Amino acid sequence: MIITVVCAEKGCNGNKFKVNTEDDKLILTCTECSTSFNYSLDSLNHIILPKCSKCDNESFKAFNDKGTGKMYIKCTECGNPPESIYVDKDGNQVSYEQLKIMDVESGLFELSEKLDDINEKINNSSMTIEQMYEWMSDLRSTTKKK
Ligand SMILES: [Zn+2]
Ligand SMILES: [Zn+2]
Repeated sequence: MIITVVCAEKGCNGNKFKVNTEDDKLILTCTECSTSFNYSLDSLNHIILPKCSKCDNESFKAFNDKGTGKMYIKCTECGNPPESIYVDKDGNQVSYEQLKIMDVESGLFELSEKLDDINEKINNSSMTIEQMYEWMSDLRSTTKKK
């Protein structure tokens, strides 16, 4: 169930917020009463900037998915998410596309290491064909699980 986040301050029904992130916390500040609320975000790999990615508007509505615990933030003007800066595991700023490419690259690197392994095993004639098949299917199942 997705619920609209409403200001928790007594007597305030504000549902528009300014957004910010600090460490791994999402900070919503009510535009009506200026009260701030913190939400912890797990595995945050991006920093949310306080303006819309499309129209530069600075007030947002927040939606909380009770099932997954995920928070969705949408511009009150155009419905787009706020501008984000993505950060790689070394803390460098990268674009979302770069982050995806790095994911793929690390996957390919793992794969090429496995291929080197296979080549080595094939060149090593002490293995019978049956052993080789067994080992290959083991490898396949461990790769799948990842
Ligand atoms: Zn408020
Ligand atoms: Zn907008």
